[in-house]
Amino acid sequence: MIDIHCHVGKLYFDPFIDPELVLSWMDKYDVRKAALHPIENPEETAYYVTTWYILEVCRQHPDRFIPFMNVDPRRLQSDASVPFHRIIEEYKDLGCKGFGECMSGLYADDPRLQSIYEACGELEIPIIFHQDYLRTRDEVGLPRFEKMIRKFKKTIFCGHGPGFWANISGDLEPGAYGFPNPQQKTDGPVVEGGAVPRLLEEYPNAYADISAGSGYNALTREPEYGYEFLERFQDKLFFGTDICHTSQIEDDKIPHATYLRDALAAGKISQQCFDKIAEENAIRVFDLE
Ligand SMILES: [Zn+2]
Repeated sequence: MIDIHCHVGKLYFDPFIDPELVLSWMDKYDVRKAALHPIENPEETAYYVTTWYILEVCRQHPDRFIPFMNVDPRRLQSDASVPFHRIIEEYKDLGCKGFGECMSGLYADDPRLQSIYEACGELEIPIIFHQDYLRTRDEVGLPRFEKMIRKFKKTIFCGHGPGFWANISGDLEPGAYGFPNPQQKTDGPVVEGGAVPRLLEEYPNAYADISAGSGYNALTREPEYGYEFLERFQDKLFFGTDICHTSQIEDDKIPHATYLRDALAAGKISQQCFDKIAEENAIRVFDLE
């Protein structure tokens, strides 16, 4: 399996995530590679993990870790004159395979973010796109995200995060967008008409990763719906964990790999569906080996 969404370093007010600890988890769960996401947006976590640090870690474990890049658009003049294309191209030349995660405290269609989407499209760097109440903000039904997918057709957007996955269901009330938000309904049966299945269906450049509590919850809140969702969108989904606390590893609380393997073993999803989500989609879309 290839984990398309993983973290190392100091993120929160808890211990530094040692790359060796992540490797031990990967060995235990037979995950052969993991994409490491830098933290460069100030709203993302409590500390920064730079792209340069990620590149250094990946250089030490080239067969196990895949470097991603992150660029916060609020730098230098904080407008469209910033040479985003040049920065992203440099990271690509250094080996970065994806942009992620995109997690600025801005609206999803902010003009400064659009400069990044455009550059990523031109340079064929897919974007992991986190959405919640604070980061890459949107409304119920994800209209801002949809506007961006439609405008930047060459750019691959991979949805992720509580705000994105809440929209698997069509019953979110206006104003209930985001998490944690007591008004948000993210459990129980999935109601038809959610933006997530519609966007994955309609747009060739829309994808999603199943990482974190949000992806796992969306797939398991109505178990049979989740298996059908995996089958139906088997070309559009990536396995991921979003490991971001050492305690998740120490307490063995990362369910995604086991969930997919159990679904396969129980005959709930096909071998083909499993293979694509476990790693074939990642190899194809992110140009991996
Ligand atoms: Zn993450």
